[in-house]
Order: sequence, then C-alpha cells, then structure tokens
Amino acid sequence: MTGTHLTFFNSLTRSLEPFTPGDGQTARIYSCGPTVYNFAHLGNLRAYIFTDTLRRTLMLKGYAVNHVINITDVGHLTSDADAGEDKMELAAAGLGKDIWEVAAFYTAAFKQNLADLNILDPSRWSVATDHIADMIAFAERIAPSHCYEIESGLYFDVKTVPDYGRLARAVSDEGESRLDPVSGKRNPQDFAIWRKSPAGEQRQMEWDSPWGRGAPGWHLECSVMSLKYLGPEPFDIHTGGIDHREIHHPNEIAQNQAYCGCTTDQPGFTGARFWMHNNFLVDRSGKMSKSGGGFTTLQSLIDAGVHPLAYRLLCLTAHYRSELEFSADAVTAALTRLKRLVMAVEKIGADEGSADARYLARLDAALSDDLNTPIALVALEELLADRAIAPADRRATLLLFDQALGLDLASLSRAALRVRPADAALTVDEIEQQLDARKAARAAKDFARSDLIRDTLVAQGVDVMDGDALRWDWRVALAAS
Ligand code: AMP
Ligand code: ZN
Repeated sequence: MTGTHLTFFNSLTRSLEPFTPGDGQTARIYSCGPTVYNFAHLGNLRAYIFTDTLRRTLMLKGYAVNHVINITDVGHLTSDADAGEDKMELAAAGLGKDIWEVAAFYTAAFKQNLADLNILDPSRWSVATDHIADMIAFAERIAPSHCYEIESGLYFDVKTVPDYGRLARAVSDEGESRLDPVSGKRNPQDFAIWRKSPAGEQRQMEWDSPWGRGAPGWHLECSVMSLKYLGPEPFDIHTGGIDHREIHHPNEIAQNQAYCGCTTDQPGFTGARFWMHNNFLVDRSGKMSKSGGGFTTLQSLIDAGVHPLAYRLLCLTAHYRSELEFSADAVTAALTRLKRLVMAVEKIGADEGSADARYLARLDAALSDDLNTPIALVALEELLADRAIAPADRRATLLLFDQALGLDLASLSRAALRVRPADAALTVDEIEQQLDARKAARAAKDFARSDLIRDTLVAQGVDVMDGDALRWDWRVALAAS
C-alpha cells in the first residue's frame, strides 16, 4: 500500500517528519526491552503494542522490517539516574533465587505476554549479558576522550559531547542524581559506563574489565547492541516509553556520539534517525495498583476473565502519544467493543472477495498519519457495517485491517472471548444451566426464584445481563470496577 506518505513524530525535533527507511527498503528498528526482574506491567506492554503497530504499519506500506528488542538482565538500577541498586540483583536476593533463573523466568513470562497480545516476535531478541565483551570494547574506545574513573567505576562526562540532553529538552543541572549522589562525579548528569563491584561485596553477575571487576552501566547495552545489529550508519527508528526520553535515551545518544567520534564533523549523529516514544498508561484512581488489589499484569486481567486482545484494543483506542487512562470500566468497554467487532466479522462469513480500495485508503491515511489507530478503528467499524460492499469484499478488506491492527479478528470467535476467570466459582456450563433455570422460572412467573438465581450468580462473580444489545446473557464482573 503506497497511497499516503508516512509521517512520524520525531522526538528529536519534536515535529512530524516524512519517513522512508534509510535504504529505501528495510526499516531498522530498535526497541528498548524489559528489565526482567519482575512481570511486565500493563503500562510496559503498551510500549510494545505501540512498536507492533509501528512495525505492522511499515509492513503494510511494503517495507521489510528488521526489529531488535533487547532484554535487560543486568545493570538497570533502581533509579534511572544511575544511583541505587541493580534491579536484577535486588530481585534475586529478595526471592532467594539464582539471578539467571530469575532472568529466564521473567523473560519467558514477557514473551508469553507478547504472544497473548498478538505482538509479532522481533527479528532478534538481544540479551544484554550475551554482549559483555562488546560493551567492554565499546567502552574502551570511548573511554580515553569521554570517560573518567572514580572509586565506583568508569563514568561518562556529558560535557565531552555537544548538545547533551537535546532529546530531553529540559535537563536540569541537578538531575535526579541529587537524590542519591555518587561522590566524585564531574557533572550531576554523568552516568556509569562500568560499575565496579564494591570491595568485599560479591555480585551474582560480574565480569572482569580494564576498570575492575563489576558490571556495565544500563545505558551502554542499548548503544552497543543497536550499533552491532542495526548500524554502523544511523538506523531508522529507536523506540521506548516517554520516560526514556529524559535520561536513558539522551545517555545512549551521548555514547553514540562519542563512539562515532562525530563530536565535531557530524554533530547531528544520534545513532537513529527517528526517536519515537509512547506516552504512559496511567491509573489515576490508584485502584489498579498492586496495593489497590487491581490489575497490574496482563495475566491478572486474563485471570479476571478479560481476553488479552481487549487490552490491545484499549491501547489502540488512544493515540500512542496520548496518555491513556486505565480502569476496569475502560477495559470492560474495550472488551464489549471487541465482542461487537467479532460478531460483525462472524456475520460477513468466510468467503473472500477483493479488498475495497476506499476503505484501504482510509486505513492507509490513518496509520500513515503518525499511527492514528483511533481513526483506523472507526474506519474498520464502518467497513464491517457497510452493506454497500459485498460481504466477501468486506472480508478481504477486513483481513488487511487485521494485519495492520493485530486484533486477530479473522480467527477470534465469540466463544474464545469468553475467558474463564482463574478463580471462577462456576464453569461456563454451570452458568448456562443456571440461566436456563432462570429463564424457566421467569416463564413460569416465579420471580422470587428467578431473582434468587440472579443474586446467587452475582455473588459468584457473574453479572446477568437482561436485554443486552449484544445478546450476551452474562459477563464476568470485574472486581475493581
Ligand atoms: P522497563 O522494563 O522499566 O525498562 O520498561 C519497559 C518499557 O515500558 C520502556 O519502554 C518504558 O519506557 C515503558 N513504560 C514504563 N512504564 C510505562 C507506562 N506506565 N506506560 C507506558 N509505557 C511504559
Ligand atoms: Zn534502551
């Protein structure tokens, strides 16, 4: 599909810019991956739904995609500003487990989340601890002109590159580091390239280096792995959540500038041509936090009876650069919208004709406009309801929408949407039996009995939905709504 020209918002320039891959054919994308010290929370997963939409849009436009996601299994500290303890070491100590086991467990859980959300696997998963030698080699090259050694390790001097923090736009002189200062740093924003293991303390993960035994700083891995797999010339798009625009990505850019030596002749070099950031999923009510007893992980949503693709749809209803508010009501509404879509798709049947050019042009225009998924969804709903288009042609068109939006509408069934909650008191059959008994009681005008059956179902976490427009008899009541 080539109609509308692609335009993406580039955080570097804070403006919409036309996009074509550097080589005209293959878009090279690097996405900052998870730190595998815990389950990904729903907010983290919004970041990968965003990159998946980006990727599917590029594919729709006929480009090949080379996509790398890293797995951070070392070096990410409890503060992004490079202070505090290593998140991985802390988690392993807390669980009393081997750190490698912890990393493997949460990596597998993360990959399962992506599969549940119908997110395409990247071309390459790149694991930080597989690249320690590469990181040391990178650091050795930049150290003489850009780094200095202090007791706690090797630090990057941000004053040695031009324009430090241009991506963030508002780097304060103090930075977050004032919260937990590392003594001996030249500038508050200077960050660790290599952290020496403190004397007398043994880390579970540590390696020898020219700067002593220790572990790499967190920012180093992304510069090293993106350069290795997508460089050496600037690759196309670097993605991450908007929090990364403030510290992690400015630090990556500083490292990249130091490495390519383009401090004078190529001051614009940042490693990637486009830097794109998704906004946050927020929980204003506070109900969804772990302490509020709500849903923080995708599995907790599934356990409550919500199909994971309802969460994907919820994310698509907002533009990726807008904040998205999470609530049980919002996810329930998304589930209902998904059900409507699935019912509409079931209605048009399995015959496949030819795609409708006007609707495809609308899809193209929406996604080409900086991934405007809310507009694409409206076009999809109008397509499904458009009787002027033969059902078989609607189906052919829908399949292309489906490839771009990843909602799996072509194979999702109404039955599959009915996820059984993990702690459900009743099986689906039992619920159906109770509803049949209730119908019989109502037919016999035994309203006391019919009310009793309904109240008993509600007490068991099942909402009875009389007269539901979608003809759903019942739904699972979400605890936090
Ligand atoms: P982390 O595992 O903390 O490195 O985060 C993985 C990804 O999730 C990063 O791209 C973060 O910027 C992103 N992220 C973190 N919190 C949120 C949130 N609440 N909403 C959207 N993205 C987030
Ligand atoms: Zn990164």
